[in-house]
Amino acid sequence: MNEKTQKILNDYDAFYAILFENVDLLSKRNCGFGVGGGWNGLIREAFAVLRESGLPNIRVVQIKEKFGGLRFYFDGGNEALYKRIGEIEERSYVTCDVCGGPGKTGGRGYICTRCDEHRDHFKDDTDRDVLWAKYEEMDGKLREMMDKRPEDPDAED
Ligand SMILES: [Zn+2]
Repeated sequence: MNEKTQKILNDYDAFYAILFENVDLLSKRNCGFGVGGGWNGLIREAFAVLRESGLPNIRVVQIKEKFGGLRFYFDGGNEALYKRIGEIEERSYVTCDVCGGPGKTGGRGYICTRCDEHRDHFKDDTDRDVLWAKYEEMDGKLREMMDKRPEDPDAED
């Protein structure tokens, strides 16, 4: 296993650890959770902000990267909370999604936010079978935890 694959495995562990800690805030109509490990700090911060708000019906629906930026979708917030999470999303545009250092959004074809060192990070092959197996393991654990949880409140879209 090469160094890049090992780093992604470690990043998965860290990312899923955040999801496991916050499983009560995740929506059962889960549309997928996954971003580069460099954004784990932003994700941790976003969940902390949601929790601090004390709002009872918050459910995170999706966490993904699109056009180089973090998309952190949730129901049950208020204007102030959506604004605060929006500010965290904005910071993803200057945060390398590999290492978490200062980055820039760009690239040809696939747009992403990276520092100079990691601009072409994933052009080299990583061990996809190992990564897929790890993803399935972690996602399975998460689904098991979600299944044991009470149903979501009726959140307004
Ligand atoms: Zn980087």
